[in-house]
Amino acid sequence: MSTVLVVLDHLDGAVTKPSLETLTAARQYGAPVAVALGAGAEGAAAAAGEYGAARLVTVTDAELDQSLVAPRVDAVAQIAAEVDAALVLLPAGITAAEVAGRLAVRLDAALITDAVAIGGSLGAVTTSQSVFAGNWTTESEVTGTAVVTLKANSVPAEPDPVTAEVTAATISYAGGSALARITASEAKRETGRPDLGGARIVVSGGRGTDGNFAEVEALADALGAAVGASRAAVDAGWYPHAYQVGQTGKTVSPQLYVAAGISGAIQHRAGMQTSKEVLVVNTDPEAPIFALADLGVVGDLHTVLPAVTEQVKQINR
Ligand SMILES: Cc1cc2nc3c(=O)[nH]c(=O)nc-3n(C[C@H](O)[C@H](O)[C@H](O)COP(=O)(O)OP(=O)(O)OC[C@H]3O[C@@H](n4cnc5c(N)ncnc54)[C@H](O)[C@@H]3O)c2cc1C
Repeated sequence: MSTVLVVLDHLDGAVTKPSLETLTAARQYGAPVAVALGAGAEGAAAAAGEYGAARLVTVTDAELDQSLVAPRVDAVAQIAAEVDAALVLLPAGITAAEVAGRLAVRLDAALITDAVAIGGSLGAVTTSQSVFAGNWTTESEVTGTAVVTLKANSVPAEPDPVTAEVTAATISYAGGSALARITASEAKRETGRPDLGGARIVVSGGRGTDGNFAEVEALADALGAAVGASRAAVDAGWYPHAYQVGQTGKTVSPQLYVAAGISGAIQHRAGMQTSKEVLVVNTDPEAPIFALADLGVVGDLHTVLPAVTEQVKQINR
């Protein structure tokens, strides 16, 4: 067992930034083999090669786009066996966690989800995870084959160009894999902002916005950031659920997280505790979120955010 297999996320061949980070992390074990699934998978070849994958295996069968996760597991499990993978790495996410769990069962492998660091060697992979709302860091060592999902922004994406040899795989799908079929899907409204899950900067608003997200969005746009929201803001109907950060929303791990008008309930912290730097703006100096702050401002977000936005715009000019 001497190969690391990286499952790339892509949209019609456009590979996501967390996938490039995962490829970068995979290179510590040798030249990775990448796999891209679904329509447009061949389009991932340039990015795979740019980030060091000597080989890209593609699967473009209709089963992958028409069904939920089961056919993806069939495809990755078969390719992992063919390349004798000792480690399968996926960029973390809800679908990735489901694929990874099923894959680990198929491959009789250990499963680690939401790793924030990965090291060791093939056959003895080590990982770090941040657990219990960031209050504990868990170090693990896997003996044997490992399936690991790596959180966005855990490592910087660094190119190491090679020419990726592209091969198309023929997959034998299990009988029951396509029983659950996607009957309709709707594209998310285009905001022009980065994807929340992989963004380098996230500006989130909570109940303290009092329903006015204009200042949160303005700062996000000045910083090139994604917008997030607390559950209180989402439950009030002020922002869509797709932007909720926390235990029952998205998990983010940006370089900078701005929490504006958010108290810092444990369920919110569970979704942002691995952020590298945290900026808090809150009128209450006793708000629990200040415990996570690298920089805290006690003040009204409706005053503080526009002032910060103006400063950022001046720097960008
Ligand atoms: C099972 C379960 C799952 C949950 N999942 C999630 C989840 O995924 N994500 C999540 O966020 N929550 C989740 N929650 C809810 C969570 O417990 C909190 O209720 C929620 O996070 C509170 O949101 P908030 O901080 O915006 O509101 P609040 O707790 O009401 O805090 C508002 C903050 O804004 C400050 N403020 C008020 N006005 C201003 C102003 N003008 N300027 C600056 N600051 C101001 C206040 O001082 C206060 O600290 C979950 C709860 C449960 C039980």
